[in-house]
Amino acid sequence: MLTDPFNRRIEYVRLSVTDRCDLRCQYCMPEGFRDFEEPEHWLDFDEIERVMATFGRLGVSRIRLTGGEPLVRKDLPALANRLARLPGIEDLSLSTNATRLAKHAGELRRAGISRLNVSLDSLRADRFKEITRGKLSRVIDGLMAARAAGFAPIKINMVVMQGVNDDETGDMVEFCLEHGFTLRFIETMPMGDTGREASNRYKSLQEVRQELGRRYPLIPGVMPGGGPARYVQVEGTELRIGFITPISQHFCETCNRVRLSVDGTLYLCLGQDDRLELRPLLRAGASDAELEQAIRDAIARKPERHEFRDRPEQVVRFMSMTGG
Ligand code: SAM
Ligand code: SF4
Repeated sequence: MLTDPFNRRIEYVRLSVTDRCDLRCQYCMPEGFRDFEEPEHWLDFDEIERVMATFGRLGVSRIRLTGGEPLVRKDLPALANRLARLPGIEDLSLSTNATRLAKHAGELRRAGISRLNVSLDSLRADRFKEITRGKLSRVIDGLMAARAAGFAPIKINMVVMQGVNDDETGDMVEFCLEHGFTLRFIETMPMGDTGREASNRYKSLQEVRQELGRRYPLIPGVMPGGGPARYVQVEGTELRIGFITPISQHFCETCNRVRLSVDGTLYLCLGQDDRLELRPLLRAGASDAELEQAIRDAIARKPERHEFRDRPEQVVRFMSMTGG
């Protein structure tokens, strides 16, 4: 079992399989950005499987595939298949922008992924393009294919920004009610220049909750495996709405996760620089026991909390580099 100095049990790894992406969300990746990790630095599927098997032995039971855009990594379903079979791993999920989901939903489901998070910041094609530089219709097609393939739950993640899309929170509620999706709102985080720039349009989700409360009867809700989101339910419906509030109400005391980036760096906190470089260990022939010990030692250094509010200038990595 992995327990950090603040008595938090680490049982969840967010695994970034690429730092590349086919979109350029304003708050995440700069438009002309090309400074990606070299392919020879990417962990290959054998290396990823080995690291995840190590985590499985240490008590990790949940893995989320993320990125960048995970579906940009070639043969992702084959990797999912291997990870879903690892001893100890009970839950394999995927975060995606859904642009490639229409093509891959069926094989991902068959590979053993059960739960999906999909980013969707606007239901208006022109605005969606402005925020992400992508095409809304591809995402909607992807979402419908995922629903048809049997993914459940499908959670829609909306980063809410003042004066950009905060007038669409009600429309998003209606959309999720219609299609049976779960909805989560996220506050902008000052990660990299892009995240800091977007944070100028920060909107507190406490406000969003009040606005929605005037329109819908909201009752306290729960969501199994809901992570850091605080949930409400629209009374008389199945719709759950989660609020992820790293800024207005941080949830570091219940943090149960670490993040592995595409180059094999284990980040111990989204908002801090503390890390363990696993690639050199793997490529120097470390034994299983050595890997386990290195991970235990790293968890013993997990920071208590992020400092997005007090030191917003601190994190130079974009979200896409860490594995959001
Ligand atoms: N490409 C996939 C996607 O967009 O869902 C997975 C990776 S993306 C980095 C994971 C999540 O991070 C998305 O929900 C995205 O909206 C969120 N994100 C990225 N940058 C952010 C920021 N600066 N503040 C808040 N959320 C951010
Ligand atoms: Fe790509 Fe996801 Fe970042 Fe948007 S949030 S640029 S989809 S990695």
